[in-house]
Amino acid sequence: MSSLLLERAWVDGSVQDDVLVEIEDGRFTAVTPGAQSGERLTGVTIPGLANCHSHAFHRALRGRTQRERGSFWTWRDQMYDVAGRLDPDGYQELARATYREMAAAGITSVGEFHYLHHQPDGTPYDDPNAMGLALVEAAREAGIRITLLDTCYLSAGFGDPPQGVQVRYADRDAAAWSERVALLEQSPAGVVVGAAVHSVRAVPAEQLPTVADWAGGAKPLHVHLSEQVAENQACVAAYSRTPTEVLALHGVLGPRTTAVHATHLTEGDIRMLGSTGTHACFCPTTERDLGDGVGPSRRLHVAGSGLTLGSDSHAVIDLFEEMRAVELDERLATQQRGHWSAPELLNAATTTGHRSLGWDDAGAIAVGQRADLVTIDPASPRTAGTGCDEAGVVFAATAEDVVQVMVDGRVVVRQGDREEIGRELDEAIRKVWA
Ligand SMILES: [Zn+2]
Repeated sequence: MSSLLLERAWVDGSVQDDVLVEIEDGRFTAVTPGAQSGERLTGVTIPGLANCHSHAFHRALRGRTQRERGSFWTWRDQMYDVAGRLDPDGYQELARATYREMAAAGITSVGEFHYLHHQPDGTPYDDPNAMGLALVEAAREAGIRITLLDTCYLSAGFGDPPQGVQVRYADRDAAAWSERVALLEQSPAGVVVGAAVHSVRAVPAEQLPTVADWAGGAKPLHVHLSEQVAENQACVAAYSRTPTEVLALHGVLGPRTTAVHATHLTEGDIRMLGSTGTHACFCPTTERDLGDGVGPSRRLHVAGSGLTLGSDSHAVIDLFEEMRAVELDERLATQQRGHWSAPELLNAATTTGHRSLGWDDAGAIAVGQRADLVTIDPASPRTAGTGCDEAGVVFAATAEDVVQVMVDGRVVVRQGDREEIGRELDEAIRKVWA
């Protein structure tokens, strides 16, 4: 057993002083605010952050897609270029460095929306899950937990066969997808295997129930939803229904499901997502980068959809920025301030996020929970003078202000690790483009 006296910590919905935590087998066994003595951890400590939407390989694109004008669809061509270059070893190296960047930013669980399954010509690897297992190993090496959201991808769009690099993503049909994913079910500690539907574009409606049945309302099931207006239009043209309606009709929505982006929704879509308890994962820095638009985060929340956050394309890996962006983007969209409180945004990034990834026992500093601790410097040039309460943490801190990270009772990031992480990223990304 070990114990720590947290100088200040976010416990039970507020920042409290002198919180003594006792840890055994990677979990909190006692949490006592106002304690007198113990080994002191200075700073403001929050629970581990859940990054609920990641495509690890997109990290190789950061800074390289900004020269051209264009749209989501022209950006996608550049992303496909990277997807064509990776093999299991290169994927693991890039993912490990990316996950280390996440760990240093206070992220203790990642939801990896993984669709890069097969060899460049579409043939499965000898182990058909070689690429997914490379991600699992990368997370283990980086010291964070992973929910591998193995993604079903069957079509270039509404029934068209996969084209170009998409053959790497595609299984024959949803039944073949579920047979492959079944091989992953004996997952080691620190891994949850979940499912994903790439989108209503990439999975024909009649295939959706097979994926939903595999998840069975018990495993996490994620889906890209209505990120682009063009996708909505094509969906209505194909099915005479919105993407949300198609998912609802085929059993994809529910409390274990997460709709990623949920940007361009009708009032009916919002009601349907909320009434089924489907989570909504917003990825504001990516949505900004790609010019997607601003989704109705507050209206979804009011309707019943729990908010979660993701760094998606990794144009930025900083969940503090994602948290405040949800509120700040609502301000731009409505010309009003004060839609989301700081505690609500912290809940999105911690407990709600972890729950949506299948980690119901993580995301809070509380007895029985996994011992994840993210400690922030309250006297950095960004946080100094803010008081570093909830509002200071959410609206002033950045990933750079995280000084120590513990996952499952083990310290995985210390001050001074950033230089090495930068070198590792640089090396991995150079190899991708070589
Ligand atoms: Zn995505």
